[in-house]
Amino acid sequence: MKIVEYPNEILRKISEEIKDPTSVEIKQLILDMIQTLRSNNGLGLAAPQIGKNLRICIIEIENELFVLINPEIKTLSKEKIPSEEGCLSIPNKFLNIQRHKRVKVKATDLNGKKQIIRARGLLARAIQHEIDHLNGVLIVDRVNENR
Ligand SMILES: [Zn+2]
Repeated sequence: MKIVEYPNEILRKISEEIKDPTSVEIKQLILDMIQTLRSNNGLGLAAPQIGKNLRICIIEIENELFVLINPEIKTLSKEKIPSEEGCLSIPNKFLNIQRHKRVKVKATDLNGKKQIIRARGLLARAIQHEIDHLNGVLIVDRVNENR
C-alpha cells in the first residue's frame, strides 16, 4: 500500500480504538501493514501511515514482529536518550529525537490476547514513535523537545 506522507492531515488525526481486534478486516489490515513495512524496509508502521486512523502499529526488529493493537503506555523511564530517527512518512529526513530509554506497554496482539511488552533500546524508541502516530504526533513535533 502507498505510504501517506507528511503533511497529509490523516497523519494528524487521533486514531480510533479497535473494537474487534480479531475481525477479518483488522487481520487483513495488519497483513497489508506487514507487507508495506517490509517492502519499504521500515522498522515500524502505524495504520494512519496507510490511510487508516485506527489504533494499530507494527514493529519489526531483527526478524521479530510485534503487532500492537490499542497500545497503552503503562510506564516510561525518567531517563531519556537522543538518537537519529527517521519516518517512512517523512522520506529522507533524519532528526535527533529524545526518547525514554525504557517503556512498558500494554496492547492486544494478533490473536486478541492482551500482552505486556517491556522494551528498551531501539524497540523502546520504535514503540514511542509508532504510538505517537496514533495520536497525530510526528518527529517534526518532537525535535524541539531536545534539551
Ligand atoms: Zn513514523
